[in-house]
Amino acid sequence: MQNRYGLAEEVVLARLEEIRRKDTPPSTIFSSMCAQPHPIAVRAHSMFLPTNLGDPGLFQGTATLEAEVISWFLDLFQCQDAGGCITSGGTESNIQALSIATRQHLLSKKHMRPNVIVPASAHFSFEKAARLLGFELRVAREETHRMDPEHVSELIDKQTCCIVTVAGSTEYGMVDPVPDLAALAKEHEIFLHVDAAFGGLVLPFLKEAPRFDFSIDGVSSICVDPHKMGMSTIPSGVLLFREQNFFDILSVDTPYLSKKTSFHLTGTRPGAPVASTYAVLHHLGFDGMQEIVQQCMENTRYFIEEMEAIGIMRAVTPDVNVATFHPHNIPEPWVVSHTRGGDVRMVITPHITCELIDSYVTDVKKLNEK
Ligand code: PLP
Repeated sequence: MQNRYGLAEEVVLARLEEIRRKDTPPSTIFSSMCAQPHPIAVRAHSMFLPTNLGDPGLFQGTATLEAEVISWFLDLFQCQDAGGCITSGGTESNIQALSIATRQHLLSKKHMRPNVIVPASAHFSFEKAARLLGFELRVAREETHRMDPEHVSELIDKQTCCIVTVAGSTEYGMVDPVPDLAALAKEHEIFLHVDAAFGGLVLPFLKEAPRFDFSIDGVSSICVDPHKMGMSTIPSGVLLFREQNFFDILSVDTPYLSKKTSFHLTGTRPGAPVASTYAVLHHLGFDGMQEIVQQCMENTRYFIEEMEAIGIMRAVTPDVNVATFHPHNIPEPWVVSHTRGGDVRMVITPHITCELIDSYVTDVKKLNEK
């Protein structure tokens, strides 16, 4: 043991501060889908730090917050009768949705290996889900970075248990043609999961946005992450199912806890990010969220125009606030990421202001002129 006698509180905290300074400052990060938490999110999070929704009977107040957050999202996604739960984020939500779809298939089709169809640009959490759950992953082609329903139709067979569609893709910020894919899923009686981890808290606040929610017949489940555009604290995910009893299929007995069954993937579940999500949504309301999201979209358009003015063209016109550009040299200290196709990718979360965009564009212009 290195510190047998322990260190003074100030010494440990000073060390932590020094370590924290090695992290990249948020103002230079253009690559993250997780928005900076709203100040009220941080306060609410710290109020609920010791709470554990893994044993909800002990935290009945916090459990009501989970129910209220779910109800808020069901309203937003147009299906008050549906059910849902809080997760740690998009990865857990996607794994749980596919866990239900594959289990349903195995129970009805006598243990034939199921397959799941995903768009080529799907998040890597689906590869994790395939390894964990043992299904075959079938990758559908895309047209302008959106899933091609014709190819999906060719890939469907009797062992297809789920079609995954994305509303706000990680790399290019595109929305798949969910109504067409839902119609296919309905025709073949297949589960349809919408991964709206990012776009779920963007699209409902835009005028004339592509449709993706429960108002479309055939959509079985939707996931959305408050720790992305919801400005909540990490980890905050939400998973919703059209039919509440979908969750029963994952239920296990939990004899020594206050509630006797659980369908969640994790045991201990933090209540703090649930309080944080509740606080942001209730503080901002629909109008406050709309104002922030519309500003992000405005800034995305501004970014694209300013880059094109210096000769660096967009890769696509996105459906949500993700801007992608043809490859160029990246000046310091800015942090961007690259798509699998080599384009430069930026996520225009609320802290990316026009001033920050101007600084980036000026630095890019100088560097690329050399
Ligand atoms: N789905 C999409 C579309 C995403 O963009 C991401 C993450 O960026 C995820 C799922 C995974 O979310 P998380 O990192 O919160 O597990």
